[in-house]
Amino acid sequence: MTDQRPLHPDTVAVHSGRGDLADLGVHALPIDLSTTNPLPDIERGGDSYEAMAGGGRPIADGSLVYARLWNPTVARFEDALAEMEHAEAAVAFSSGMAAMTAVILAHTGATGKHHVVAVRPLYGGTDHLLGSGLLGTETTFCHPSEVGVSIRQDTALVIVETPANPTLELVDIAEVVAAAGDVPVVVDNTFATPILQNPLDHGAAMSLHSATKYLGGHGDVIAGVVACSETTAEALRRVRAVTGGLLHPLGAYLLHRGLTTLPVRMRQQQENAQRIVQWLIDQPEVDEVFFPGLDGDPQGIVKRQMHGTGAMIAMRMRGGYSAAGAVASAVSLFTHAVSLGGVDSLIQHPAALTHRPVPADARPDADVLRLSIGLENADDLIADLAQAFTRVGSGAQASGAATASPAQG
Ligand SMILES: *Cc1c(COP(=O)(O)O)cnc(C)c1O
Repeated sequence: MTDQRPLHPDTVAVHSGRGDLADLGVHALPIDLSTTNPLPDIERGGDSYEAMAGGGRPIADGSLVYARLWNPTVARFEDALAEMEHAEAAVAFSSGMAAMTAVILAHTGATGKHHVVAVRPLYGGTDHLLGSGLLGTETTFCHPSEVGVSIRQDTALVIVETPANPTLELVDIAEVVAAAGDVPVVVDNTFATPILQNPLDHGAAMSLHSATKYLGGHGDVIAGVVACSETTAEALRRVRAVTGGLLHPLGAYLLHRGLTTLPVRMRQQQENAQRIVQWLIDQPEVDEVFFPGLDGDPQGIVKRQMHGTGAMIAMRMRGGYSAAGAVASAVSLFTHAVSLGGVDSLIQHPAALTHRPVPADARPDADVLRLSIGLENADDLIADLAQAFTRVGSGAQASGAATASPAQG
């Protein structure tokens, strides 16, 4: 491999995190399921323990000691993700929410700062975690333009999500980073993936993923991961080692394998989504389509910050809450289910499901449905939506198409 020229993302996705395989004499990723590891002697075992409990890496000729401190299969996935995110390091967790919890605890807790600035809209679980104050934090929720004025002496962290869940609103990462000053910014990069957006290149301190979504890509792993500097990774590993929100090595193996096809999946899913968006904007049943760049990208954010639009779509149904609910139940190829980013297409109603814990004034509108577009043929997906719209249209006429929403109160 060349040292002069950076490798393209497609190549990095296939080869990263595999540097030690040839020396091990294997070609496929090994899965290390050991929960404990033999100790060479008490000095080196103890030194290695101390290094890892402090958030560092295992010492040479030491021991991995115990799998809550270090696991080689997880570490390989972390190395791969770090390289794809142009980061020094990455730290994996048992879920996206465990990753977010560790980020918040590492920056608040013992640091003495307890204030968080969070740009809405956010994933419902994140909004709920911050709004509840469960971790002892106090949160100021704000608009991207209000980040600067929301920062206080005791602000530990700025949290932003772009594209945002579920409305696909875009936030200019560099602008938020500038407004945040010395306060580290974490970007939830779940929707864009490292293929379409690298937040650290725009000054963010951390890029967080619910790896459950696109990174895994097959709907069979719950995981989270944070790409960041080695110093931040040490703080996150310290939290992980004592709170135990670990990614299991079997999950890490599946995620690492999933990374190899991530660029190809993203390209095809995005192409499918773009075709479906073009069809949706002409449908009388749909009042509004939300998709990055569909408004002509007036602030140039897609152009400046992203390598593509992604494969998530939101749409406002003309028939309101009842039509949205009926469409979600009338599809057959799409699965009516929460989550996103897999090879198969999903549809869900954010106000009733993923964003239910969000306060009513910040909750997505009740007529909005969210689509995660998969790898099926786009014509088949369009045909499925078309038959659902037709069925709901005739049903709505019969029932008088109520638009009130219980979920909106
Ligand atoms: C799903 C999701 C999360 C939470 O991740 P889990 O793996 O479900 O814990 C966080 N952020 C976004 C944008 C998500 O879609």
